Amino acid sequence: MELYLEWIQEYLLAIVAVAIMTVLFFHYLVEKDTGVKLSKRYRNSIFEAQSKVFLNATQYLISGNKDLAIKEILNAVDINRETIETYFALGGLFRSNGEIEKAISIHRSLIARENISESHRLRALKELAVDFDKGGFVDKAVETYKDVLKINRDQFEVIQSLCRIYEDVEDWDQAYHYRIMLSKVGHNNQAETISHILVQKAKIYFEKGEFAKSREDLEDAFRFAPSVSAKILRLRVQLHDGNLEQAKFSLLELLKEHPMYASFIFESLEEGFKGAEDDQEQYSTRLSMLRDYFLELDDSEFLSSPSVILSKVRLLKSRNLLERAYKIMEPWVKDHPHTSQAIYSEYIKLLIDLDKSSEVVKYTKDFLNSFHQSLTKHYCNECGYNSDEIFWRCPQCHSWETIQFRWKV
Ligand SMILES: [Zn+2]
Repeated sequence: MELYLEWIQEYLLAIVAVAIMTVLFFHYLVEKDTGVKLSKRYRNSIFEAQSKVFLNATQYLISGNKDLAIKEILNAVDINRETIETYFALGGLFRSNGEIEKAISIHRSLIARENISESHRLRALKELAVDFDKGGFVDKAVETYKDVLKINRDQFEVIQSLCRIYEDVEDWDQAYHYRIMLSKVGHNNQAETISHILVQKAKIYFEKGEFAKSREDLEDAFRFAPSVSAKILRLRVQLHDGNLEQAKFSLLELLKEHPMYASFIFESLEEGFKGAEDDQEQYSTRLSMLRDYFLELDDSEFLSSPSVILSKVRLLKSRNLLERAYKIMEPWVKDHPHTSQAIYSEYIKLLIDLDKSSEVVKYTKDFLNSFHQSLTKHYCNECGYNSDEIFWRCPQCHSWETIQFRWKV
């Protein structure tokens, strides 16, 4: 008797599995014959899913993993119950498993079904759009997301996906359009992001030499939010327009607010634009004057920032004003013994150029002691994404203005 019970316990699952699969197979055959209003492709995909479940369950049984086998078998039972929810679950399962085509065929057949409520059809359409999106079929994803919005515009996640896609492909007109739509549907303030998008538009116009359009978008950007990128572009516009006094004021304001952006600000100002040679020449003359102004600034407020120090020193070195650079760095390095590697290395190079050999030895030693691995220049403080490029929008987590600076050797 005990032996018999043990046998049942051992093989119960297998028996149940075989029984369920027989029922499923029978069901499949009946469905096939009576021609339920399902597309052939859809029926096949359900059957395929069931077979897969059975195979998995059998494999789990053989390898002794009963928990997973039960899970698989329960899945199979669910499929056959034919509730809408199960189809959605199955579609989601396929998608998260990377089997996009199967997910697509399930969601498509749900949409095509006659006996389905409108809200379920809408949901299936949304799921289909996500399938396309995850599968990398961007055009189809966009089209399907838009189909959803035609039925119901109050779809935060759908609009958000469209925002992400258009920002990814840098279609700033569309990105702007959907960000505005998002701000109407959701409760989050989108002003900062809208400002960034408008700055991107304005920047492209500026670099193409279409200054009137650029100014228009930039003004709009400020209307939404005075983002850092907007302020930097305004500085470029002011230099182009010849408003040197305003440019000085803008620079000062930027440095007070964001001293860590110092070297990046000058990098941005060097980025060119299309235009007449005269225009370009005047721009670089004004930029040079702005640099002079920057070198004269000795506001203690931002002189404590390593970025400002480094920008000044690099500027002075490029003009071969080594003694002046030394005068700035020497007290700074003394006051900040645990300063960054970038400052140390800049300082050591300077000491070598100035033939100060005993100091070179001392600081090289300190520098080597502090040496860790060299890193990328920038990283995202949301997700940790690393890059040497400047990114206003993190390419990994899509957050705006999460960039942080590291000092690279
Ligand atoms: Zn990120």
